[in-house]
Amino acid sequence: MSGLPEIDQEFMLNFLVELLNTPSPTGFTHHAITLVSKTLKQFDQLELEATRKGALVARWPGESSHTPRGLTAHVDTLGAMVKEIKGNGRLKLTNIGGFAWNTVEGEGLTVFTNDEKQIRGSLLLEKSSSHVHGSDVSKTERKADVMEVRLDARTSSEEETRKLGIEVGDFVAFDPRVEVSNGFIRSRHLDDKACVANIVAAVKALHDAGLKPAQDMTLHFSNYEEVGHGASVGFPEEMAELVTVDMAALGNGQTSDEFHATLCVKDSGGPYHFSLNQRLRQLAEEHQIPHKIDIYPYYGSDGEAYWRAGGDVAVSLIGPGVDASHNYERTHMDALLATSNWIVAYLLS
Ligand SMILES: [Zn+2]
Repeated sequence: MSGLPEIDQEFMLNFLVELLNTPSPTGFTHHAITLVSKTLKQFDQLELEATRKGALVARWPGESSHTPRGLTAHVDTLGAMVKEIKGNGRLKLTNIGGFAWNTVEGEGLTVFTNDEKQIRGSLLLEKSSSHVHGSDVSKTERKADVMEVRLDARTSSEEETRKLGIEVGDFVAFDPRVEVSNGFIRSRHLDDKACVANIVAAVKALHDAGLKPAQDMTLHFSNYEEVGHGASVGFPEEMAELVTVDMAALGNGQTSDEFHATLCVKDSGGPYHFSLNQRLRQLAEEHQIPHKIDIYPYYGSDGEAYWRAGGDVAVSLIGPGVDASHNYERTHMDALLATSNWIVAYLLS
């Protein structure tokens, strides 16, 4: 990738792993926001501010204030909330964000009580034992109603579970199971923590090289994306462009893969902005950034959330290829590097 300040790969990966290991289901994102804020504080050109909604916004003065720009990525992830304490002391959950229950079956989890006490457990099918339920274990359709949390605590009644401090409405985070292996990063919630790391690493690349962005920038770390309205607010009125950084969707018929960054030209919300897309494609060509162009069939982004909220800006979407999205995800360092370099190229253009 030619002509760009270097990305500190070790820094990017270490930050990503720490962020992945910081639980942040939508609605319970304060620890992740604190981590991003703490990490960005070392770059003294940034002026950090928390929005009332709980997002983190960083203002970054550029060489010019002619066409202010924004970048956004989200720290919130899929997760769940306690819906009901059952008579047997186990928990029924309600999902936060869109995922299929089979993708979290058997997963370890943490319940966060109202005073942030943590209780461990796992998510299982009610009829989980083959020795008791035979073929029902494979035949039962996975829905919220037939799944339950088995707490690692001695409880067999609703009362005993309540005594642990658990109540309806407590947040539940599924274990990310982060593993870095042979250049691959395998974890839940690479959507969208990978892209938060991409932006932070791009900031460091400019900082280390003693460079400023070409235009005034707003970096927006949103905390309600998985439920559709994350980046609907939090940008300055004068902002002209917003590049959303979020994962690329892989699968049959998709061009995206784990070794490239992708420019998404259309998703469930329709086409993105043609001329901003043209510029991003040109930058990728110019700097030989490994990239793909793709369409995501079942997907919405925070850029569209801002459009829907009335944002009068050009919006584009780029991001690293993430395999098995909203499931046990995986990407590769190559895709992360491509994405960060693309951001750097955009910042300097
Ligand atoms: Zn996402």
